[in-house]
Amino acid sequence: MGRGKHVPIRMCVVCRRRRPKHELLRILRTPEGFILDFGGKQPGRGAYVCPDDPACWEEKRLRRFAGARAGELSRLLKERLGGAHGQG
Ligand SMILES: [Zn+2]
Repeated sequence: MGRGKHVPIRMCVVCRRRRPKHELLRILRTPEGFILDFGGKQPGRGAYVCPDDPACWEEKRLRRFAGARAGELSRLLKERLGGAHGQG
């Protein structure tokens, strides 16, 4: 025993659920704005949210993490995640 694959666990900053890192979307905060790091490869300090739960994209719930920029982040998440159903 002891050779099981190690799965890194991260916590969603909104709902605080702990999930395997690959199930969460990494977000980077930069001076220019937020970057959604779908590949998980961008350098920098990231935070994580659930990409499959619209409740975790709500502005007022993001405020604890993003502060005054929660609206911007919420819009970005909804565009990139929620807008994926159908074109346009
Ligand atoms: Zn969440």
